[in-house]
Parts: sequence; C-alpha cells; structure tokens
Amino acid sequence: MAVKILKDKCKGCTKCIKSCPFSAIIMANNIADIGSSCTGCGVCVKVCPFGAIEKKKKKKKKLI
Ligand code: SF4
Ligand code: SF4
Repeated sequence: MAVKILKDKCKGCTKCIKSCPFSAIIMANNIADIGSSCTGCGVCVKVCPFGAIEKKKKKKKKLI
C-alpha cells in the first residue's frame, strides 16, 4: 500500500471508502483502514475532508 491513514485525524465519515476505485478501504472500529488491494492511485487522499490520508513516499527500488 502506498497511502496510510492518520488514525487520530480520521472521523470515520466513509467518504474515502466510496471514492476508492479499487474498494481497497475498509472500516475498522469506525476508522478507515487501507487494504492490500490499494494501488496508491491517490484518489482517497484528495477526497478526505479531514486530511487523514497521507501518501507515503516510495523508496526507489532497483528493478532487476
Ligand atoms: S490510494 Fe487509491 S487504491 Fe489506495 S485506498 Fe486510496 S483510492 Fe483506494
Ligand atoms: S475520508 Fe478521511 S475522515 Fe473520512 S473515513 Fe476516510 S480517512 Fe476517515
């Protein structure tokens, strides 16, 4: 996964869940959680009204 939920900022509004094109977000204890089908597309980062989703910086790996 390439995004993460800032759990203390998430209000459980479920907007991100509806916005994810890959249905990668689930609710756990009224807080969003990113699942393994996340592609890192970044849609949810823009959708969250509380700024609770953050894009992780990728470390560049060399592909062999
Ligand atoms: S980055 Fe894209 S695929 Fe991943 S959880 Fe957000 S909307 Fe879904
Ligand atoms: S859109 Fe933001 S505040 Fe709403 S459930 Fe998703 S992460 Fe939480």
